[in-house]
Amino acid sequence: QVRVRFAPSPTGPLHIGGVRTALFNYLFAKKHSGVFYLRIEDTDQNRFVPGAEEYIIEALNWLGIPFDEGVGKEGKFGPYRQSERKAMYNQYAQQLIDSGWAYYAFDTAEALDALRKEEEAQGKTFIYNHTNRDKLDNSLRISKEETEKRIANGEEYVIRFKIPVGETLFLKDIIRGDIKFETNLLDDKVLFKSDGMPTYHLANIVDDHLMETSHVIRGEEWLPSLPLHVLLYRAFEWEAPEFAHLPLILKPVGNGKLSKRDGDKMGFPVFPLEWKNADGTKSSGYREEGFLPEAVVNFLSLLGWNPGTDQELFTLDELVKLFDLERVHKAGAKFDPEKNKWFNHQYYTRQDNQTIAKEFNHTLIERGINKPAEYVEQVVGLVKERATFTSELWDLSDFFFTAPSQYDEKAIKNWKEDTGALMIEVSEVINNTLDFSSENLEDVIKAWINEKGIGMGKVMQPLRLSLVGSLKGPHLFDIMALIGKEETVNRIKKAVE
Ligand code: GLU
Repeated sequence: QVRVRFAPSPTGPLHIGGVRTALFNYLFAKKHSGVFYLRIEDTDQNRFVPGAEEYIIEALNWLGIPFDEGVGKEGKFGPYRQSERKAMYNQYAQQLIDSGWAYYAFDTAEALDALRKEEEAQGKTFIYNHTNRDKLDNSLRISKEETEKRIANGEEYVIRFKIPVGETLFLKDIIRGDIKFETNLLDDKVLFKSDGMPTYHLANIVDDHLMETSHVIRGEEWLPSLPLHVLLYRAFEWEAPEFAHLPLILKPVGNGKLSKRDGDKMGFPVFPLEWKNADGTKSSGYREEGFLPEAVVNFLSLLGWNPGTDQELFTLDELVKLFDLERVHKAGAKFDPEKNKWFNHQYYTRQDNQTIAKEFNHTLIERGINKPAEYVEQVVGLVKERATFTSELWDLSDFFFTAPSQYDEKAIKNWKEDTGALMIEVSEVINNTLDFSSENLEDVIKAWINEKGIGMGKVMQPLRLSLVGSLKGPHLFDIMALIGKEETVNRIKKAVE
């Protein structure tokens, strides 16, 4: 059975890269009728940020990619929070000590630092492995008895993995294919610390095994850990899952990984939900900016993947059907905030008027405007094509709710000497029109203009200016029909004054 996980560390809000990782895991799980589970990797207490776990869960739910098992949805592999599994990791570290795959090390930070400096001075890169194991204070060179004594005395220690010497590892990644790694370049990574906590590497491998993870799908930044992870599976004599490392998400301009700062600078969110920073400032979120979760999922799905056709709009169900790890790209994916907006526009305008009107009504109420739902829905129907977010609707439609209080200066220049008289005439025509539907108004007014033998623009432009205050807005006769005869006539009169 396919069992995949999203395994974030609760060190802050989930950024867009993390969300994309979660999404690809979700799609892969659903495609194979498997399980998508959430594991919270909170073994590094120093980096724990309160609220981050709740944020992650809320974000996945908002996006519509909920997990099947995880914190708060206990399954048979729980608990799913590593801090609650703490007692268990010890025995696995011990197992590796017993089998000779790991050892205790008592090096002080100062000693490590000194050796690093020494090696760097000789132009070498410091790697804690067989090249200098013996120079350091570790149990590979001190007796078992002494090691035990030092631990019993409460001396600080770590347990390190013993990287094999001089081996070439042949690794497989679903996206990247075959990868070669020289073990001599690898560090003897710390697996366990004397505070009783495992490091990410140990807890991650133990849990992926115990939770029967079939595929590890994660960001490219974990690729350098792959050899260690594969060696850990070997050391435990466990079958390793398959691995797929997703390409980086790159800045919209320039090179490098997309960061929160890019978003702040260019005014787009990189978080799914708004986040309160420790310093009291807020980082904006897709939800609060008015993005629809379906749009976010759709554009994220195309960051590093496409189904091989030109199609860009996909429902979640379609994505599940089409998604394929083999089609994920190796190269980084450029993040394009304008394209994100385009996706939102596509989804935004496909919503029914009622849904948008309900949301827009909050803005109206705030402005002291109370209009029947039907009216608001009709307005929405006329302007939504031009909107990407509900926050834009007021500027697109204010004239449906209040008469213009000022007129666009450039447009006023076209207000000729005879315009006032023409407007009075047209207001009378309007006043005498019984069928106030948009179509009929159009027929009547255009007929009148033709009869007078003057240009359309001579009437239509000042008319629009009178009703809207500028030359923007939807079809003029739609506006008249909606605001009604009295309001139309009043606005023309006011403009003429
Ligand atoms: N806890 C790691 C993270 O925060 C998980 C990496 C992995 O998926 O192995 O990204």
